[in-house]
Amino acid sequence: MDFLKGVGVSPGIAIGRVFLKEDIAIEIKNETIQNPEEEIKRFKDAIEKSKQQLQELYEYALKKVGKHEAQVFTAHTMILEDEELIEKVNEKIRTEFKNVEWALKEVTDEFIKLFEEMDNEYLKERALDIRDVTLRMLRNLSGIEDHSLVLLKEPAVVVAKDLTPSDTAQMDKDKVIGFITEEGGKTSHSAIIARSLEIPAVAGLSGITSQVKHGDMVAFDGSEGKVYIHPDEKTIKHFKEKKERYEQRIQLFEQLKNSEAITKDNIRLEVACNIGSPADVDRVIEKNADGIGLFRSEFLYMNRNDFPSEEEQFDAYKTVAQKMKEKPVVIRTFDIGGDKELSYLDFPKEMNPFLGCRAIRFCLERIDLFKTQLRAILRASAFGNIKMMFPMISIFDELVQAKQILEEVKESLRNEGIAFNEKMEVGMMMETPSAALLADLFAKHVDFFSIGTNDLIQYTLAVDRLNPHVSHLYSPYNPSVLRSIKNIIDAAHKENVWVGMCGEAASDPKLVPVLIGMGLDEFSMNPASVLEVKWMIRQHSREEMKAVAEQVLKFATADEIERFLESNDNIHLF
Ligand code: PEP
Ligand code: MG
Repeated sequence: MDFLKGVGVSPGIAIGRVFLKEDIAIEIKNETIQNPEEEIKRFKDAIEKSKQQLQELYEYALKKVGKHEAQVFTAHTMILEDEELIEKVNEKIRTEFKNVEWALKEVTDEFIKLFEEMDNEYLKERALDIRDVTLRMLRNLSGIEDHSLVLLKEPAVVVAKDLTPSDTAQMDKDKVIGFITEEGGKTSHSAIIARSLEIPAVAGLSGITSQVKHGDMVAFDGSEGKVYIHPDEKTIKHFKEKKERYEQRIQLFEQLKNSEAITKDNIRLEVACNIGSPADVDRVIEKNADGIGLFRSEFLYMNRNDFPSEEEQFDAYKTVAQKMKEKPVVIRTFDIGGDKELSYLDFPKEMNPFLGCRAIRFCLERIDLFKTQLRAILRASAFGNIKMMFPMISIFDELVQAKQILEEVKESLRNEGIAFNEKMEVGMMMETPSAALLADLFAKHVDFFSIGTNDLIQYTLAVDRLNPHVSHLYSPYNPSVLRSIKNIIDAAHKENVWVGMCGEAASDPKLVPVLIGMGLDEFSMNPASVLEVKWMIRQHSREEMKAVAEQVLKFATADEIERFLESNDNIHLF
């Protein structure tokens, strides 16, 4: 049967009737007004009302979804507080005698265009946030209540041009069995919220809103992104079976919550999680993961107006460490640059931001900011099992310098009589080919490595990790990447240094057996994958997988390796 192909952004199977969320058309008239002050007052009132709604949404999302996701609404409030935006609208009303709706639309359109033209995916998607806030303002100015999704009576698959973060955060998981949008991608806020709520979703399916109507039957798989409209009996049966298998799988994995990640030949491995904020720890605990293998600390620096203070950072790190009790928490020092920019930092425009002043390079330029973070991490290390690592080391001196700065910070804490863990482990991310080639040298100077495959793949293969044009070349199965990983693990083990992996490859079911065979000690991932990886580890023995890993390294192409892994009798995929 024919299907439409979008981008799978949140896994799971959905079969159900369509609820078509039509955007309420708000007619914006271009009017000349007599009394600008009256219009400015309407603008102010609408801002106040919108802020109040956003506060309510924030609290709702905080309770139902999580702090990280709720912060979208803090970002929306910040848009409403933007001096430049307010001033521009007021000026249009005062000097051009325009009605507020028109003035607002003109000004926000300019901002949206500006963001849409940026070649940074993260900032591009901020255009959606401005659009969402503008619509909220326009609705409030025309007295239209927005409760379309709240009105959903029966379970349905929501189909929309785009879902704003406000829409997604209001979703009731029992009613919304899945959603499909024309716009958006894996990193849009609505996709992030869908994954947290564990609602299957497909994005980027252009034209879908004109191809379905209210009540039409659809079926899709949120991992594959294939959507079937009016599925026939056979397809429905296939999806029902798939859904059943998916649910059985989840149930089976749930039973492993209290079991250890131990191979068939009794080797205890660690399955840890990646987090971006203290609020994410709840899901780590829920899955009973062995620790946090990557705390992307740069997220503490985003969605705000200035750098977080030492105290704020200390509180965040301490909260995470205490919540995790004796389990390890690996904090990565902030990885700014590349696709992660800060709105309040005037970043010089670079031709190749991923090859530019990113991560450790930025820290070594802004030693003041780096030291503030190191102080906060060290102070928090007195309250739990904190370890620390540096991102994107490619040059040997970078590690030497970073460690030297760390020593200086330690010395000043000692002089001030401030407690910290003198034995805190210090490691580095292995995410550049240069670091992989020099792994034997680096291993003599750290306590652990954490392999960042997301970057290691892009730098090894010279394939931009964000560019859809070359995404077919971006593969963790490429033998050059796998050889690099093997080299890193071997070099580390020679020096008794443990090795983790915190890139997406660590939770790829086909690669987990290979990584077990190569000797990886720790696997770190999104909490949603923890139980599946634990299951994979418990199905395989290191000794057997060693042979598989050796065979894998002999192939020349990613396709051959993937096919080999899919058809190998010794590999048990669910
Ligand atoms: C990686 O590169 O694999 C990694 C974990 O870091 P990030 O995705 O944050 O660049
Ligand atoms: Mg990285």
